[in-house]
Amino acid sequence: MSQETVFAAELSWPEYERTVLQGRVPILLPIGAMEQHGCHMPLNVDVLLPVEFCRRVATATGALVAPPFTYGYKSHQKSGGGNHLPGTTSLDGATLVAALKDVIKEFARHGVRRICLMNGHFENAWFITEGIDLALRELGWSGINDMKIVVLSYWDFVDKATIAKLYPQGFPGWDLEHGGVLETSLMLALYPQFVHLDRAVDHPPAVFPPYDVYPVNRELTPKSGTLSSPREASGEKGEILLAVCTDAIVAALKTEFPASP
Ligand code: ZN
Ligand code: MN
Repeated sequence: MSQETVFAAELSWPEYERTVLQGRVPILLPIGAMEQHGCHMPLNVDVLLPVEFCRRVATATGALVAPPFTYGYKSHQKSGGGNHLPGTTSLDGATLVAALKDVIKEFARHGVRRICLMNGHFENAWFITEGIDLALRELGWSGINDMKIVVLSYWDFVDKATIAKLYPQGFPGWDLEHGGVLETSLMLALYPQFVHLDRAVDHPPAVFPPYDVYPVNRELTPKSGTLSSPREASGEKGEILLAVCTDAIVAALKTEFPASP
């Protein structure tokens, strides 16, 4: 790619068209949320992190990064503290699915045939899947059957050895890692100016029954809004996570989007 930037929205339309028209250059689409992340981090963690992973992966693979989805599906109490918390600003599932479907079809209209949806918010997962399914179905009706879409959540690329190294006291699971060691460490590595560890609240991992009740019992969410403690977070852990996930995602995309198909 001849352009100076990996961000699609920073290109002029002729530059964009030249880049995507052959269908070879993948579009990476970060999908986040506006959601509370405890007392020590801002509301846009789930946007900042996948955007940065996309930027790094795009730089390594020659892909373009599309503007992110900055709102996502509702925060679930067991993975994001709950949708009742102030600042958490969510879309209905049908809205997210419809918007994703529209954007995928627009990229297809421009000639894009390779897309990677990079999820940064646990609760988005099945709605992303549905948006892809509806888009591919409708594109098929228009005779476009050569689209390939990869969907991933960056934390799924943290391997067992890295988990063992980063969580010597035990791993709470990605659902309880809301505002905990993973996200706080990544934010410390990338955006330390947005992290206020002095305001972080240390608490044991949240405990939930193996079922859900609505309206939620707000008492089950720790007061801080985090579901596990960020106390063991560090910029060094963040750098490890950045390297591990970026390398593994780059490898996955080189497999799925080979240079000469
Ligand atoms: Zn998050
Ligand atoms: Mn989230």
